[in-house]
Amino acid sequence: MSSEVRESEAWTVGRLLNWTRDFLRDKRIEQPQLCAQLLLAHALGCERLELYVRFEAVPDRVQLDAFRELVREAGLGRPIAHLIGRKEFFSLDFRITPEVLVPRPETETLVETALEIVRASGRPLVSILELCTGSGCVACAVASQLPEVRLVATDVSPEAVEVARGNIARHGFGDRIELRQGDLYEALEADSARFGVILANPPYVKTSDLSGMSADVARHEPTRALDGGSDGLEVVRRIVGGAADRLDVGGWLAVEIGYDQAATARELCSAAGLSNVRLVKDGLGHERVIAGQRS
Ligand code: GLN
Repeated sequence: MSSEVRESEAWTVGRLLNWTRDFLRDKRIEQPQLCAQLLLAHALGCERLELYVRFEAVPDRVQLDAFRELVREAGLGRPIAHLIGRKEFFSLDFRITPEVLVPRPETETLVETALEIVRASGRPLVSILELCTGSGCVACAVASQLPEVRLVATDVSPEAVEVARGNIARHGFGDRIELRQGDLYEALEADSARFGVILANPPYVKTSDLSGMSADVARHEPTRALDGGSDGLEVVRRIVGGAADRLDVGGWLAVEIGYDQAATARELCSAAGLSNVRLVKDGLGHERVIAGQRS
């Protein structure tokens, strides 16, 4: 075999990426090219962008075996974030485990809404409560953009609280974000604190829709973080209903909701006595966040 032939057959980074992109596309995995890059960078222990200067490099056997296993699992629908143990959200890197929801791009709308509310209020020192924090990505993103706010972040899942604790420490927000484990407002119990802003990305998928969700969501992510009960709004209803007792006068509640829940969520806010209710669209044009003010 001439060295030319051998070279053309070698599994270079470039060739691995192309093959994997096509394989994942055939398996109907979203963003197959990005996924291929993330998995290969993980197997090689480098950053994704470094792959571009290594296109002709040939990974060693150990790296190739690790990569092949990652690709196989990705093809079976395991979320890339679980395979590589991390996910970027609001330009920050978060450690992700199967105990927490993988941060979604649409949740950046919740962060942007929070930033707008705080900036418009002219009160940079405001205290914020974030319910259902999961990986802690929303609290960290808000803290990274608003250097003077303090947050309390809660989750009903002790495992999620531990993941959030790691992410908060890693980004250096341990002195500004306090974590509490408990069921929504019950996590605050004896504490009678009120907040200028309450945020939440609660579970809001209808129980009956869970089985219809794409394989990687329903099979691999925590049901507890997705299941919003029979109409999807059971947790949203409790959050909206309890908000006025925990908000300062003039304080705002902002909650992420499902793409078809805006009308019902608006009724819930009005029934809870919130005013100036508004809806904020996500990048796909869905009404994704509902916000209302305690008058
Ligand atoms: N947007 C998520 C999904 O459809 C649901 C997130 C949630 O329930 N908070 O996968």
